[in-house]
Amino acid sequence: MSFASSASGWFDEAGNLVEPAVAAALLANRRVAWVVADQALRITSVVDAGGLLGATWNWPGAALLDVLPELVGSERELAAVLAGRPDPLHIDFLELADCDARSVYVRLTVAAGNAEAARALFCIFEDMTDLGISRQRLTQSRNELLLAQRSLADTILDLQASNAELRRLTDMKSVFVSVAAHELRTPLAVISSYADLLAQGLVGELNDRQLQSLGIIREGAERLLRITANLLDMARIEAGRLELVLQVLDAGALVASVVEEQRPFFEQASQDLSLAVEPSLPLALIDEVRATQIVVNLLSNACKYTPGGGAIRVTLSRLADCRELLLTVSDTGVGIAPEDQPQIGSWLFRAKSANEISAKGVGLGLYITRSLVELHGGRFWFDSTAGAGSVFHVTFLAADAEGEN
Ligand code: ADP
Repeated sequence: MSFASSASGWFDEAGNLVEPAVAAALLANRRVAWVVADQALRITSVVDAGGLLGATWNWPGAALLDVLPELVGSERELAAVLAGRPDPLHIDFLELADCDARSVYVRLTVAAGNAEAARALFCIFEDMTDLGISRQRLTQSRNELLLAQRSLADTILDLQASNAELRRLTDMKSVFVSVAAHELRTPLAVISSYADLLAQGLVGELNDRQLQSLGIIREGAERLLRITANLLDMARIEAGRLELVLQVLDAGALVASVVEEQRPFFEQASQDLSLAVEPSLPLALIDEVRATQIVVNLLSNACKYTPGGGAIRVTLSRLADCRELLLTVSDTGVGIAPEDQPQIGSWLFRAKSANEISAKGVGLGLYITRSLVELHGGRFWFDSTAGAGSVFHVTFLAADAEGEN
């Protein structure tokens, strides 16, 4: 509801006369007040039923610009309004102290009209404290947001710097690892081949004790060669320089040939090794050397982490959607404790169970295996029960699935 005044009283929107007492109550309730100023900008009367304007000033008789210094500088505008400019002058969120000395925000509207037969300025004050407080809170939140944004930007910069430093250190580590591994490989290869010559009796006959010692030397040299080869692969993977030569191949034949090659190690450990390849499998998209490495790694782990008398089962089948071939290597070995499982496959990690049986290893094989599988576009995962055995799963893309999707 709005209402207007005239010389003869107060009227509502429908033009009905409103009781002056009712009008005063409405004004007080809505916290509306006004003052009238003459052409010399001196206040001639004040209506403030709700106590909006406070008691600091003795308003009647005071100079308008003293009471409302916010209007200083707007004298030309005030003169224009007085002279009949139709647009009133508005100032929002003007801060005043009310009659209880509380801070209030008001909207000031300055319009002109006739009072006591002379042109006068009407300064109307409407309480907008709630809005003012919301606006203040909004400004505060905006400032807090700006601060948070600035600190986020600083954190991002710090993170980028740390990232760059980390990248630099990782690159340095990769370079160091590959240089060291390269340098170690030549003397190791020399040790290994001379040990072979000695073992074959090509530089003179050796007795049994000498041959036994030589066997230990050869084994150690071969193990070191395998470690250096793994370190080189790791450095290549980390630098993104390990590239596959993918071919369309019979994965069943590849797995079967690796199983037969590795069989002597299982026989030596009195383990039962079996293979089941599903008939009529599609060809797979694989790098022959790297896929062989994947199968060898899984088989040698199964052999290493399974006690004598255990069983290792290798299967190759097709997954239901025919897009992938699934290789599984299961064993009845030491298994992996649940708390170690999340870290299996991260580099240099070895599970407690591996240390418990003093199995040799450095924790690089599965990191490389997993990376090689992923480079093939396949997936790697495992299930394991401590003390009961593990099943490692690897998928390869079927060649005829290429280009689908
Ligand atoms: P390494 O065998 O040289 O330690 P790997 O990267 O091949 O390194 O394997 C990482 C760890 O995963 C091993 O140390 C071992 O704890 C665990 N692991 C791998 N294969 C098996 C398995 N078949 N049975 C139980 N634990 C395994």
